[in-house]
Amino acid sequence: MSASLPVTILDAVFVAEARDVAQMPPAGPPEVAIAGRSNVGKSTLLNRMAGRRGLARVSKTPGRTRGLVLFDLALRVPGKDARQMVRLVDLPGYGYAQVSHADRQAWQVMVEGYVKKQTALKLVLVLVDARRDLGAEELQLMEWLQGMQVPCHLVVTKADKLGASERGILRGRVRGGMGVRAASVSMVSGETGEGVDALWSRIAHVLSQPKGDERPELA
Ligand code: GDP
Repeated sequence: MSASLPVTILDAVFVAEARDVAQMPPAGPPEVAIAGRSNVGKSTLLNRMAGRRGLARVSKTPGRTRGLVLFDLALRVPGKDARQMVRLVDLPGYGYAQVSHADRQAWQVMVEGYVKKQTALKLVLVLVDARRDLGAEELQLMEWLQGMQVPCHLVVTKADKLGASERGILRGRVRGGMGVRAASVSMVSGETGEGVDALWSRIAHVLSQPKGDERPELA
């Protein structure tokens, strides 16, 4: 068995914010998109994953219409000589109580357009708050991604808020709730950094799968 050395982040840079899919820069490194409702801890986790405190603004502007925010990271993956590049794509948060139906539709159009167009997309991290249950939005998103043949990985955030037994219960509930959509699950805390190395190992594993290169562009 190989020793589980952590993935090291060598560099992390902001690339662009695309207001819509047409504005996306040309495809670069393999992409890992991050989705989650507002306040789930996405910015905190992204900063922690990148090892840069201020990379993703920990947004305090609920409902601000936002685009797709792209960051390029250079990784050192244990067992690999060359550095691995990955593009993290921060999808706009959803689930703001105060947004209109039109805003919700705009979110869907943007995210669906992105997933359909972007053949560089290898994995979607679907974030869910440890203190909330898996909602209809998360389930719908995972089901839809499955239909699009895009792998997704469920990430329970703010795990530091839970004790050991609560974690076990939540893990079981989340897995049960996902049913046939059973993706893999990680528990992380952007605040303490717990679980982030394991999450990176999981991502590196998915990126190393050759099959991921074959996803066709969908109409
Ligand atoms: P975003 O809206 O999804 O980007 O969420 P933020 O990263 O802005 O975090 C929302 C709130 O949750 C903030 O008050 C954070 O301090 C808090 N938060 C984020 N991550 C964690 C975590 O891992 N543990 C705890 N306890 N709180 C967190």
